[in-house]
Amino acid sequence: MNDTTIKLKLSTREVEGLTNLARDIAMKYWGLDFNIPVIINPRLKRSTYGRFIYNKKTPLRIEISGYSIRNLYITEIIDLMKHEVCHYACFIMQKQLSDGSRFFEGELKRINSTSAGLSYKSVRKTRGK
Ligand SMILES: [Zn+2]
Repeated sequence: MNDTTIKLKLSTREVEGLTNLARDIAMKYWGLDFNIPVIINPRLKRSTYGRFIYNKKTPLRIEISGYSIRNLYITEIIDLMKHEVCHYACFIMQKQLSDGSRFFEGELKRINSTSAGLSYKSVRKTRGK
């Protein structure tokens, strides 16, 4: 199985849905526009549910692992997206945006999202098998 096959399997509908979700989250909690793509990256490790990618000045994209898409409940996907969009929002606001930093963690609390390092219920369940 190669990456192209996996990408094709997971494409358009899900990705569009995720991008719309991110847009709604950015607007609802920060009043911010969200203009970067959300993509599914099948190569991310299991432990990396998602990540926010940026360079010095520009936000680039949010990546969600194929594993998350296949294994998390929808409520957990929403929570994961809140976490990733929180990185994005902190970046745009030029605040501390790394996991564990005071501002970022404060924002997570405010929007009621999960901190990094906590594993999702459904994942804990699958792991036992
Ligand atoms: Zn994070």
